[in-house]
This record gives sequence, structure tokens and C-alpha cells, in this order.
Amino acid sequence: MARLLAETPPGAGDRLAVILNGLGSTKHEELFVLWLTVAPLLRDAGYTRVKPEVGELVTSLDMSGVSLTITWLDAELEPLWTAPAETPAYRRGTTAVQSGDASGEETSDAGTADAPFEADADSRTYAVQCVAALEAARQSLHAAESRLGDLDAVAGDGDHGRGMVRGSDAAATAGAAAGTRGAGAGSVLVAAGDAWADKAGGTSGVLWGAGLRALGESLGDHRVPGAEELAAGMSAFAARITDLGKAGPGDKTMVDALLPFTEAFTRLVQEGAEPRQAWASAALDAVAAAEATAALRPLKGRARPLAEKSLGTPDPGATSLAMIFTVMGPFLAGSGQPGSSQSRITSNQTARALS
Ligand code: ADP
Ligand code: MG
Repeated sequence: MARLLAETPPGAGDRLAVILNGLGSTKHEELFVLWLTVAPLLRDAGYTRVKPEVGELVTSLDMSGVSLTITWLDAELEPLWTAPAETPAYRRGTTAVQSGDASGEETSDAGTADAPFEADADSRTYAVQCVAALEAARQSLHAAESRLGDLDAVAGDGDHGRGMVRGSDAAATAGAAAGTRGAGAGSVLVAAGDAWADKAGGTSGVLWGAGLRALGESLGDHRVPGAEELAAGMSAFAARITDLGKAGPGDKTMVDALLPFTEAFTRLVQEGAEPRQAWASAALDAVAAAEATAALRPLKGRARPLAEKSLGTPDPGATSLAMIFTVMGPFLAGSGQPGSSQSRITSNQTARALS
């Protein structure tokens, strides 16, 4: 307290905004005990504490201790400090006007939801396969949820399984809804990606959402993509994820499974392999690469501070990516010809997804 008050600016008044903040592992009880020391010191020094905040406002994983912040209020700052606020992490008072705005947003969302899609019939047919691929991803993530959570709990925060389930649930639902409204494959994947990023939470959700959106933008709403267009789409998926997340090979992230996949798929397609077989073979590479991340220390993401603990355990994001790519392949790289046995399977799965 003495060190902070020694920095009192010249001409400062006697009204203070005070924030006593727990950094993560300090309990609220301990914060209030400490406040019982801080508050009298300020009172005895002649200060009025204006709406002080005691709680967890700025935290970092597993960090001990507190921060204490004081701001000398003036006629301009005090109304701003006491003004109602509503954000995901901080609330003060009530913000009736802002909730009015939020309902306005819902109306405009509903407006775009009904916007007509401009897609050709081939792309709509392929969109059915994309929806089936999302549905297959969703189902395998449900089955693997607790295993992925356990992997993430070794050095991360244990939420990877839950996040991937929430993201893929939202993506499969949004993709199917867009398909029902006549969207082509590109728009189905964009809608799915946006829903995934919106609902999953966590780093992997943002990256998966952005990747699916990039794939959709690359494939577009016309024609069934040929093998090379699909390879370009998957490279766009990977590029968006590395642009956003800035992870490279060996950082122990999903990128360690993703890049071996796109490299192998692109190479095999260029060599003239049949797309479904090229995909299956590239997915096997991704599975092997994901397993090999067990030997790495994480250099990106939430697992970095506990890197040593993660040795011997494969990266959760790489594991889930290899798993999902494996099950999505038969749909994304399957033949898009109506009447083929592949299309019949996907139509059945989609009918189930839509019901
Ligand atoms: P969070 O780390 O926010 O809890 P998840 O647990 O859902 O999110 O996902 C963790 C996974 O996200 C990691 O296993 C890793 O594969 C991936 N990841 C984390 N940071 C990055 C990054 N910068 N680039 C690519 N992937 C990342
Ligand atoms: Mg996590």
C-alpha cells in the first residue's frame, strides 16, 4: 500500500478506484481477508474508496498471488468507473439499453438465415456429402470425448473433448440447416465453421472453425470439387490454421498432424491416385504423426507452461484431428456421382442427421 501511495500524482484528489484482483489460484476468501487490511489503510490515509472491486478479474492459469491497483478519480473518470457495464468477464449494474441492442442483433441474424443461396445442383449434391462428413466427425467425437479430455488434462485444462463435441454438434446442425435451405457445399462448410468457432470455446474451436470456413471458401458453391480442388481446399484449411495460430511443425499442436496430411494428400493426388485412396493414405500418415507428438514438448497453447508433464502423451488436438479426418474422408473424397453406393450411404446418414 505504501509503495502505491508513494506514486500519488501531484494535485490528486481523495477519491480512489481500487481493484484487488486474484491471479488464479488465490481463493475469494483470501482476497476478502486481504481486503480487510487494505481498506482500513486507505481509510486512515484519508481516501474514499469508490465502488472497489475485489475478485478474479485478470487471471492466468494456476498463477498464485494478487494484484492491487488504485486509480485517483477525477470529475471525468469517476462517472466512467461507476457506469454500468456488461461484458462476458465483467459486469457492473444493469445495462438495459444494451440488452435492447442484443435483441436487435437476433432479428438481423434471422434475416441472414433466410437469405437464398446461389448454388448449382452438383454442389448441392456434394453438400450432402459434406453434411454427412460433419455428422461422422460429430459421432466419433462423442465416442472419444472422455479420452480427448484425459489427454488434455495431462498438461492442459482438460476441456478438449467437451470443446470438440460442442463445436462439432453446432457445426453438424448448422451445416445441415444450411443444406436444407439450398446451400452449396462451400456455404454449408462456411456455416458449419462459423458455428463451430462460435460454440466450441477454446483454442481448438477457433482454429477448427476458421479452417472449415477456409475450406468452404476455397470449394465454393459450384461443381463437385475434383481431387485437385479438394487438395487445394485442404491446403487452404491448413494455411488458415497456421496463419491464425502461428504454430509450426514440432510445436506439439494439431498442426503436427495437419501438415503431414495435406502434404501427403496433395502429393498423392498429383501422382494421380484416386482421391478416396489418397485421402485414406494421408489420414493414416496423420494418425501416425499424431501418435509421434507424444515425444514432443508443447511450444504453443495452454499446455506450454506444463510442457514437461506432457512428454509421453500425444497432443490432444493432433489426436482429434487425425481421428476426424479419418472418418470424414469417405464422404469428402468419395465419389459425388448420384446413384453410386457412396451417395446412397451419405443420403441415409444425412437423412438421419436432419431428423
Ligand atoms: P484450449 O487449449 O484453449 O483449452 P483445447 O483444449 O480445445 O483448447 O485444444 C487444445 C489443442 O489446441 C492443443 O492440443 C493443440 O493441438 C491445439 N492448439 C493450441 N494452440 C495452438 C496453436 N497456436 N496452433 C494450432 N493448434 C493449437
Ligand atoms: Mg484445453
